[in-house]
Amino acid sequence: MDSDITIIGAGVIGLAIAEKVSESHKNVFLIEKHLSFGQETSSRNSEVIHAGIYYTKDSLKARLCLEGKRLLYDYCRKYNIPFNNCGKLIVATSENEISIIKGIQQTAIQNGVDDLIIIDRKQIAEMEPNIFALKAIYSPSTGIVDSHSLMKQYETNSINNGVQIVYGSELTGIKKLNNGYEITVLDSDGRNYTFTSHIIINSAGLTSDKVSEMAGIYDDNLKILFCKGEYFRLNPPKNKLINRLIYPVPHHNMEGIGIHVTIDMGGGVKLGPDVKYLESNVYDYKLTASKQEAFYKSVKKFLPFLGFEDISPEMAGIRPKIQKPGEPLRDFYIKEESKRGFPGFINLIGMESPGLTSSISIANYVNGLISNPD
Ligand SMILES: Cc1cc2nc3c(=O)[nH]c(=O)nc-3n(C[C@H](O)[C@H](O)[C@H](O)COP(=O)(O)OP(=O)(O)OC[C@H]3O[C@@H](n4cnc5c(N)ncnc54)[C@H](O)[C@@H]3O)c2cc1C
Repeated sequence: MDSDITIIGAGVIGLAIAEKVSESHKNVFLIEKHLSFGQETSSRNSEVIHAGIYYTKDSLKARLCLEGKRLLYDYCRKYNIPFNNCGKLIVATSENEISIIKGIQQTAIQNGVDDLIIIDRKQIAEMEPNIFALKAIYSPSTGIVDSHSLMKQYETNSINNGVQIVYGSELTGIKKLNNGYEITVLDSDGRNYTFTSHIIINSAGLTSDKVSEMAGIYDDNLKILFCKGEYFRLNPPKNKLINRLIYPVPHHNMEGIGIHVTIDMGGGVKLGPDVKYLESNVYDYKLTASKQEAFYKSVKKFLPFLGFEDISPEMAGIRPKIQKPGEPLRDFYIKEESKRGFPGFINLIGMESPGLTSSISIANYVNGLISNPD
């Protein structure tokens, strides 16, 4: 075999995996179709280090988020990656929502998030004097991270461990062999080349279902639906009126967690993302200026100082959802596919939020699957 392990996709998850597996494996390749890392979902998100509050008990999302959050804070301290453990408030703006936030606290406790506290109007005013809320949950372990610096560090450590990162090369075919796989790649000069790999790790984000199909794994349950999220920015100087993350009470089936307010490491404040399943899987990052009214109304409930002109379109990202519209929340799909007849093929599909938060714990989990596929 030309390589022991080939990872497809240099987003935050593929890079974290590359760093981890190269600590104990030689001959690791990372193939990325763009000319540098993180050009898709990993650079179009809220950059929040999630606490692990909302996920289904015993799910991978719950477990890997909780573990990943701790590992990520440690990693950021170790490598001086900019981060801010700023905390977050989930705000109830009506009597009805007060009972919902109590339920959220219970779910969080079941997931091992035991540091949430419910605070009243006076305590809210001390933390965030400019918002409106009757009651709120305060999550002290939530934070934000500079995701570009994080990916750069994963890349640097991977290269130092000997990983060969091949940018500008798109995986176009996978053929199963007796003891591994033959991989075909199209490079940026339009040339095809092939090589062999004992193990393939599919962390191809929005097209990870297609990569899985290239190997011969067809499963309707793993079809990715592109689900767009748009953001508006809170224009200066009003961005200075918010100090931490402010979330509304989430939708019942968690297709999204409501238009929320996030701060970033540069002092910017974003509103969003909203949730819109696209009709087909196209890379549609266009911004919809006409959504201004809906964004404004949605956050005005808890940002009373907001004027209609205080927000402008900012950016959009696309979630790789395997949860169909209206369905209950789906978990991350992370599996070694021996049971389907594809030993050494590891699939990561539906890696939506909290994928950034969980990147290191996901990498550890995948590394474990290499030695122990069950
Ligand atoms: C709107 C939005 C907000 C989010 N907010 C948060 C948040 O606040 N906190 C959090 O924890 N998570 C958040 N997430 C989730 C997080 O961004 C993702 O879980 C994470 O970025 C996924 O990383 P990835 O490496 O799997 O995918 P990607 O970043 O999509 O990387 C996959 C890579 O694979 C490459 N690729 C695909 N096909 C091929 C091929 N055939 N050949 C070669 N290369 C290929 C792509 O070019 C891409 O670079 C958010 C997501 C969205 C969309």
